[in-house]
Amino acid sequence: MPAPQLKRRFVDALPADPEPRNFRRQVQGACYSLVEPTPVPQPELLAWVPEVAELLSLPAEPSPEWVQALAGNRVLDGMVPYAQCYGGHQFGHWAGQLGDGRAITLAELDNGRGETWEVQLKGAGPTPYSRTADGRAVLRSSLRELVCSEAMFHLGVPTTRALSLVLTGQDVIRDMLYDGNPRAEPGAVVCRVAPSFLRFGSYELPAVRDDLDTLRALVSFTLEHYFPQLRQEGTLAVAALFEEVCVRTARLICEWMRVGFVHGVMNTDNMSILGLTIDYGPYGWVEPFDPGWTPNTTDASGRRYRFGNQPKIAYWNLAQLAGALAPLLEDVAPLEHALDVYIETLAREQRRMLLAKLGLTERPDRVDEDNVLVTSLLSLLTATETDMTLFHRRLADLSVDERSADAHLSALRDAYYDADGPSGAVQKDLATFTSAYLVRAAQEGATDAERRARMNRVNPIYVPRNYLLQEVIDKTEAGDREALPQLLDVLRRPYDERPGLEAFARKRPEWARHRAGCSMLSCSS
Ligand code: AMP
Ligand code: MG
Repeated sequence: MPAPQLKRRFVDALPADPEPRNFRRQVQGACYSLVEPTPVPQPELLAWVPEVAELLSLPAEPSPEWVQALAGNRVLDGMVPYAQCYGGHQFGHWAGQLGDGRAITLAELDNGRGETWEVQLKGAGPTPYSRTADGRAVLRSSLRELVCSEAMFHLGVPTTRALSLVLTGQDVIRDMLYDGNPRAEPGAVVCRVAPSFLRFGSYELPAVRDDLDTLRALVSFTLEHYFPQLRQEGTLAVAALFEEVCVRTARLICEWMRVGFVHGVMNTDNMSILGLTIDYGPYGWVEPFDPGWTPNTTDASGRRYRFGNQPKIAYWNLAQLAGALAPLLEDVAPLEHALDVYIETLAREQRRMLLAKLGLTERPDRVDEDNVLVTSLLSLLTATETDMTLFHRRLADLSVDERSADAHLSALRDAYYDADGPSGAVQKDLATFTSAYLVRAAQEGATDAERRARMNRVNPIYVPRNYLLQEVIDKTEAGDREALPQLLDVLRRPYDERPGLEAFARKRPEWARHRAGCSMLSCSS
């Protein structure tokens, strides 16, 4: 394996904050501040993800020096740690400068195979951007970030990755539900990995400040390193970049909807310029299918970031990015065009995705009938609490030759949350749907087995359900060191149902319905 090389593209190319001291402040005219992690008393490596290590050309087991570096206790030769400066719209309002308040990039690592990865600690202590907070992170949120980013990768959803999770041996005080009950929780540091952690907010901040030099430098850095194929004369490249971000974001949102992921805090500082899922906070997985559901209690009143609203919010966020890039263009028409491309791409991909979840392919002669079929499915799923994941897996088991509504109901029974099964009205709608569906499925010209295999490639059976994560958090906090690696292992093959893993494919148990961490999460982390 080639040895990784440390690079300093970001720090060398972009304007730096001249202030070397680490105190909270407004940072003008710069994309980052140099800042070192704050050491912790007792690091314990809880997780190391070998496939991400491989991506970085690091050994399959970490060296003691690397474990120290991943805890923030040591800066290895060649590392130039820094925190990025960015702003953002939070819950629809401009929030000014935010920045990496508890994230510190250790280095850019060239893996010797033509890829460069940014290696970043989260929870490694205060930075100039920490504002009123402590720069630390708790175990529960760090574990959730590690597990979900790896799960998303294996699901095939664009995402940042995670290399490691380290317990710090130092408690952190958090009021988990912001209800006046602060408590000490174990602190942790997660190491995240991505080609870049640049966000929409990275471009918004210099634009709002009218700092066009910084904005220009950032855009040309972005083009040079992450979108080299788009480099062309001047402003044309900016428009091409924005259109590419629109396309990637549309695909990303469509993927979230496919697997049932709700980000929970789609603020513009949490939107990746590369179209990756970034900043896992109070995210959740749709268990009973519900477009109105949000896991984030901080967002409970407006439910801005609810499952079904994600496509609209991404558009709104892209419009903010367009506004930030506009000063670099003489004519904003290409930006408006790109926003239309977002809408078209999303509509097209979403139609294809919803059909693929049914094992169907688009046919020009069936567009209207298929729309009716998909619409009736969505209303069926919302009619009563129905587990989205289990429903699609069990639907794949139906045979086009089996026409009995009772047989269909019994195959799908497990997806329903009501212990008595769906009501008579829902059963009737289900029978109507399955019979129309199987007629349509028969027209695909595939065998049952082929259709099932096709569906099972886009409908996962194992997803990081909120309660599963909470169980692993509880066990890990109690000293169990098996639960986390086991969950990571299950989620490595999310489409491949395996005997013995039934406990990871169950719908949410009743105890988890109202438990904090399972159906209610907050931004406290
Ligand atoms: P988030 O909601 O996690 O995207 O965070 C929004 C902003 O708050 C970002 O600038 C974070 O870096 C910052 N932030 C969140 N938690 C902390 C913390 N514990 N210490 C310092 N900054 C934080
Ligand atoms: Mg964030």
